[in-house]
Amino acid sequence: EGYCSPSGPIESTHCLYETVETLNHQLFPSLHDLVTYPFFRHYKVDLHKECPFWYENGFCMNRNCGVEEANEDDIPEKWRARALSEVRVSSPGDEGVSGCYFKEQDFCYVEDDADQNGQYVDLTLNPERFTGYAGDSAHNVWRAIYEENCFGLSEASLSELSKASSSSASSSSNINGNGMKKSDIASAVVGAGGISKSSPSDIPTWGFSKLSEGWGTEMVKAPLEGEGMCEEKKVYYRVISGLHASISIHICAEYLDQTTGEWAPNLECFISRLATHPERLSNVYFNAVLLLRAVARAAPYLQAYDIATAPTLGSGVKAGRESDKLAKERFDQVLNLAGGDGMSKGFDEGDFFMGEDAPILKEQFKTHFRNVSRIMDCVGCDKCRLWGKLQVSGIGTALKILFELDDKALDPKINPDLLQRSEVVALFNTLHRISESLAAVEEFRKIYAATQEEE
Ligand code: FAD
Repeated sequence: EGYCSPSGPIESTHCLYETVETLNHQLFPSLHDLVTYPFFRHYKVDLHKECPFWYENGFCMNRNCGVEEANEDDIPEKWRARALSEVRVSSPGDEGVSGCYFKEQDFCYVEDDADQNGQYVDLTLNPERFTGYAGDSAHNVWRAIYEENCFGLSEASLSELSKASSSSASSSSNINGNGMKKSDIASAVVGAGGISKSSPSDIPTWGFSKLSEGWGTEMVKAPLEGEGMCEEKKVYYRVISGLHASISIHICAEYLDQTTGEWAPNLECFISRLATHPERLSNVYFNAVLLLRAVARAAPYLQAYDIATAPTLGSGVKAGRESDKLAKERFDQVLNLAGGDGMSKGFDEGDFFMGEDAPILKEQFKTHFRNVSRIMDCVGCDKCRLWGKLQVSGIGTALKILFELDDKALDPKINPDLLQRSEVVALFNTLHRISESLAAVEEFRKIYAATQEEE
């Protein structure tokens, strides 16, 4: 069937998956090149913040957990200067004025070029792949993130909302600070995490079938469908599960064979973590659609964004006016692909946060997501922490674009400082991670097919 036009949101049709895959054949190579340009490869991040929720001593001593820093000579001074100039506190009545859409709309803590404590990292020197980080430390982090998924309108949450609206961007340090019962948390976590069983007969089901076979039916079995969750809670779960699955795909696609010391795709890893859990894979596609929708929505704003880095010469990285020109062409190409016909109906932000309870649910969603960005400070492996923080920030930026900003806010003339450089960098690198995961799924299908032929 190949390309088909999307006919609804990602839950209700498998057609969209094929559309995403087809789009990804063009999108992935473009993004893969885009993220090598200086604007996109340099990210400032503070990897030394303390875990605010529990004592974390699971530091990964494995050298694969280490992070390579960037060369400070490659960092244009204008990034820092611009970030500094953007740090303005909004006040009531500021609306419509440049810089006013700051902080209160953020779904996560934004790492910032002006941050004194952060360090610049060259993302291209730090591939997301197997590091050996595992065990209790990693499980505690994932559990805490899934436990952030409680949405409800209890009295406690109503009072939380009234506090939130009076205290603006300050976030709760209570991990589950929304007044939900423990039993609700437990049932949601079982839905999220209790699916690790697999038997040999299950092995390559959906993950290796052609997309048109089985995808739709497997989707119906996804743990979320029957649980009566509100749409916002589903979105929260799918975003997290999709991020988790994408990280797992990267681990399996670049796995270190500890006996030979070679990096290679690990089919067993992919089968046990992904192929036997179709809903996890479907959540990666969900993230792709969500991010693409956000990029498409902000395209006019992003088109006007200054991504040039010349005249900083840089040492060894592509730099200069010619490079700026090529980067801009690539950027426009990615924006056009994201805004193409195929994706426009994939995710409709208008379906969420619309009812009477919308302000409460949105505040809760934001609080949870901000907590996720703080939980990232509990990841005991620097490289995992780097990509975890970046991707939470990228998704947070997408959520902000989709749920917080109206068309007026997205007008580059009215609101030129809407997104900080670090948010743009996080958004596109996160889209690249997800797009790379989708490309890796296709590679694993080929690897699996080859093993079947051999038998
Ligand atoms: P885990 O992946 O730890 O999963 C724990 C449980 O969650 C599973 O048993 C299952 O019940 C459930 N689960 C798993 N996947 C999903 C899903 N997609 N949706 C819903 N539920 C699910 N390791 C690296 O080698 N490289 C990295 O770059 C890396 N980055 C990380 C970033 C973060 C933020 C975190 C928290 C961990 C990272 N890790 C990384 C560790 C890695 O994610 C795993 O925790 C580790 O490989 C151990 O895997 P596991 O098989 O025990 O299951």
